[in-house]
Amino acid sequence: MNLKLKPVKLLLFDIDGTILKTDGLGRRLLEDMLARLCGRPISAEQVSFSGKTDPQIVREILMRNGFSASEADALAPEALAAYVETARKAIAPRHIEVLPGVHDLIDHLATRDDVQLALLTGNHEVTAYCKVEAAGLGGFFPFGAFGSDHADRAELPPIAVRRAYDHTGHTYAGKDVVIIGDSVNDVWCGRGIGAFAVAVCTGFTDRATLAAQSPNLLLDNLCDPDLFLHHVMNHV
Ligand SMILES: [Mg+2]
Repeated sequence: MNLKLKPVKLLLFDIDGTILKTDGLGRRLLEDMLARLCGRPISAEQVSFSGKTDPQIVREILMRNGFSASEADALAPEALAAYVETARKAIAPRHIEVLPGVHDLIDHLATRDDVQLALLTGNHEVTAYCKVEAAGLGGFFPFGAFGSDHADRAELPPIAVRRAYDHTGHTYAGKDVVIIGDSVNDVWCGRGIGAFAVAVCTGFTDRATLAAQSPNLLLDNLCDPDLFLHHVMNHV
């Protein structure tokens, strides 16, 4: 009989603004790639990337640059494939700033058998793993839900829960699913499944805006593993 306990909490980490920052690399790569694809200059300046999935971002950039919704939808698959290929080659440790406290927190969480780590991000799966590997965090996140799974972030938590079942044999529900992110979209995307939302102010959204979304826990950063665990583990 296997007496090993299943992890009781599924911790789903966002990447950009939560685990790391990339100094605008994604924005530059997308502008260059879309300009090549479209044969004219493309600006991503007016488009916020925060909390959005890659398919959403590409669609918004194209529409901001004069393409109709149907033209953007038609171009998106080729654009996304090209972006993944470009990003895969370009992402390197020199572009990555790991945010304060993240290495220590992840190292600590990885030693515990009561939590299961995974990703929940708008990045394509390939780009997501390029980023975490360049951050020195490869191997900590065995699965996740990604922008390549669905353009709507609210669809990602149920996908992560299904993958967690495949990985652990355990069905995570309600507040045992913890979504950690830096954007308004991270806070609300898990509402449909009753997830516990941890908002961090290390990204692109200010504290007051995050607070207005009533996350279950609002942290300035991830520098205090004890505080993080106290709230996340004791909430049922
Ligand atoms: Mg983010």
